[in-house]
Amino acid sequence: MSETDTTAMTRPRYVGLPTFMRAPWAGGGEDWQGVEIGLAGVPYDGGVTNRPGARHGPREVRNQSSLMRRINQATGVCPWDLARIADIGDAVVERPFELTEAHEQIQAFYERVAAAGVVPLSVGGDHSVSLPILRVLGRDRPVGMVHIDAHCDTGDDYLGSRFHHGAPFRRAVEEGVLDPKRTVQIGIRGGINDRDIWQFSHASGMRVVYMHEIPALGLDAVIAEARRVAGDGPTYLSFDIDSIDPAFAPGTGTPEIGGLTSFEAQRLVRGLSGLNLVGGDMVEVSPPFDIGGGTALVGASILFEMLCVVAEAVARRRG
Ligand code: MN
Ligand code: MN
Repeated sequence: MSETDTTAMTRPRYVGLPTFMRAPWAGGGEDWQGVEIGLAGVPYDGGVTNRPGARHGPREVRNQSSLMRRINQATGVCPWDLARIADIGDAVVERPFELTEAHEQIQAFYERVAAAGVVPLSVGGDHSVSLPILRVLGRDRPVGMVHIDAHCDTGDDYLGSRFHHGAPFRRAVEEGVLDPKRTVQIGIRGGINDRDIWQFSHASGMRVVYMHEIPALGLDAVIAEARRVAGDGPTYLSFDIDSIDPAFAPGTGTPEIGGLTSFEAQRLVRGLSGLNLVGGDMVEVSPPFDIGGGTALVGASILFEMLCVVAEAVARRRG
């Protein structure tokens, strides 16, 4: 990668090719020596159960993310001062019609990321892509997870497949790469066809915070609960854009009304400052269902909040 290009922050934001957050581009197959946080796209949506389009998420989030600035005005954090950040390109799936093989190719990309010592912050893609990422990050010991979503994504086989976007975290627990006792799921809601659809979450010991509980609990208590569950251990942060109300983020495959405001989502992520974050993803932005790029802008803005708390964790571990 080139030395951090500060001119990218001073030039007009609408010029040139858009990388995530206007970070230096390191997605051309170069080695990633010196990169501490890699912003990566995972343009794959072969795991959706209904409306597709998240394969177009990384490109549109890159585009909208050129609106981001350097410093988080609410927290004072400037991730660019805390860590060396690059756009490390896309986890390219060469054979997108083969779901299992696609996940293997995504996993292979993250093997390279991990081998280079890069902390990945990814943009999907549908939520099935979290599984191959966790297979890499949770290999040595299962990671904890803060999971913000309208859905628990701990379902079982569906239409003959074990690896769709409604099941990645059940599979991750079964494969021993995710610790359910250190996993909290926030924002769960919507109608269900089966009362036991999220039974696996409860039976395995995940803490599920349903959306209808949040107004009475208050957001600060939800944040405290997430921090208690995740504890000090290595923790993954997975953010499904459908956790946010479709009034703010309609461009997604499985919208559910009655969700978080974009401001509540920002507060939630900011509240994770200090956790031992080892990676994260922002998934399920589907530009074909979006209106004027608004959902991708929400996604890019949440990605910035995630970048801030991940950069703090990277800087803390560096010492
Ligand atoms: Mn999801
Ligand atoms: Mn969801």
